[in-house]
Amino acid sequence: MGRMALDRRRFVMRAAAALAAQALPPLDDTALRRLASSFAGTLITPGAPDYEGARRVFNRAFDKHPALIARCGNTADVARALAFAREQGLPVAVRGGGHNRAGLSVCDGGVVIDLASLGGVTVDVDKQRARAGAGALTVHVDVATQKFGLATPLAGCPTVGIAGLTLGGGEGFLMTKFGAACDNLVSARLITANGREIEVSDRAHPDLFWAIRGGGGNFGIATSLEFRLHALTDVLAGTLAYPPGRIEALLEEFARLIAHAPDDLGLVGQVLPTDNGARFQMLVCHAGDPTQGNELLRPWRALGPAEDKIRTASWLEINSTMNPAAPAAHFQTNVFVRDFAKAIPILVNATANAPPNTRVFMVPFYGAITRVRPTDTAFALRQVGCELDLMGRWDETRKDKERVIEWVTALRDALRPLSSGAYVNQLGETSDALVRTAYGPNYARLASLKKKYDPDNVFRSNQNIGA
Ligand SMILES: Cc1cc2nc3c(=O)[nH]c(=O)nc-3n(C[C@H](O)[C@H](O)[C@H](O)COP(=O)(O)OP(=O)(O)OC[C@H]3O[C@@H](n4cnc5c(N)ncnc54)[C@H](O)[C@@H]3O)c2cc1C
Repeated sequence: MGRMALDRRRFVMRAAAALAAQALPPLDDTALRRLASSFAGTLITPGAPDYEGARRVFNRAFDKHPALIARCGNTADVARALAFAREQGLPVAVRGGGHNRAGLSVCDGGVVIDLASLGGVTVDVDKQRARAGAGALTVHVDVATQKFGLATPLAGCPTVGIAGLTLGGGEGFLMTKFGAACDNLVSARLITANGREIEVSDRAHPDLFWAIRGGGGNFGIATSLEFRLHALTDVLAGTLAYPPGRIEALLEEFARLIAHAPDDLGLVGQVLPTDNGARFQMLVCHAGDPTQGNELLRPWRALGPAEDKIRTASWLEINSTMNPAAPAAHFQTNVFVRDFAKAIPILVNATANAPPNTRVFMVPFYGAITRVRPTDTAFALRQVGCELDLMGRWDETRKDKERVIEWVTALRDALRPLSSGAYVNQLGETSDALVRTAYGPNYARLASLKKKYDPDNVFRSNQNIGA
């Protein structure tokens, strides 16, 4: 597409955005002024110079227009913004790192409670704990903890927000060694639907502490989270990329590797389309003795990778650079399969003719994350198996949008008969059935806690429980 056509498209989209913002009913001026008089952060309304930037989220497929973005300056602001939204009868969305696949951290015509300014991480080396503000990103916690040779398992992408991540479960390269992010949560401060700020932990409100370890943003707004830390300095990590072709053989090799992989070895497989057919890539992070790590990788090196970027480096460097991502419009969904080998023929068939800008991400589950019982926390994905994240992207021209969405949904449907769960944080779609599938044996308990702590379903812009 030519530059002129693109400029015209941008102009049309901006004009449509301006019209959409104007179409919003004005907020009650007196109530807004009252809120502003005690608000430490910034209140951003349609028409403000920073409104356009502030309403954007990572997934550019979503173009929502909130009536107010309350960028909170402290925890009291969070309660104030929530009270304002409730008094005005406005929908609420809560935003940390803004990476929600389904665009649920922004809402049309409501109040976005934005926690980006509530970052800040403090580390207690003696107790091996870190407390982070709910606006902190994965990289912020890695930077703060690595100064002391410590780490906690957060996302495999540096810009993912720690709150959205942990409340929904939290998977990353260290989950086989140290468990999910939510397994390392020691306590959190939470503002509940009625505006009370409480501490939740094993000792304080244990029912809520159970629910927020996987139950997402359904139960309140976390303002800070405390994590358990582990000693970790260097890891053997990076990418092995194979030339196009041999997908079936490489996936079978991957199935054999994950069936016997030790806890120290965090892995993600990826199938990507090219003009010459699909290619396989493996992201590796070995957080143990590097000699053993190299030994585990020996057969993979013998398979002739086109690119071998495995090296020894600090955990901070690896987790900041291995899997970064730039904001893009996309559709992603996922299925969890217990027997990855059974999914291979379906994956081989689908990826043979995949459109450009699609990918299958394979996140194997074994080790520490699977040694927690499904009902011990709300996060119910505790079986040995593999999460398959299916994704398609498109650019501003939207040329490929329908084609990639069709491809993702067709592959999802083909895999469904093998599926025994889903991960809420990697869903770009939502439905009552999907939420029930994701929570499995925990759904009924979560629904009854939702009734107890958020009977009016104030926190509903999420993978909503008991909707
Ligand atoms: C590029 C990319 C990489 C990713 N990598 C990983 C990965 O490696 N591992 C993984 O497990 N997931 C990953 N995800 C998914 C990610 O875990 C979810 O998108 C998660 O919700 C992001 O949290 P956030 O704070 O950035 O998102 P936001 O969009 O800000 O929030 C998402 C939702 O979480 C809730 N929420 C956020 N903050 C709070 C809070 N303080 N209190 C209460 N509720 C809150 C709200 O319901 C909100 O709608 C990735 C997503 C993307 C886009």
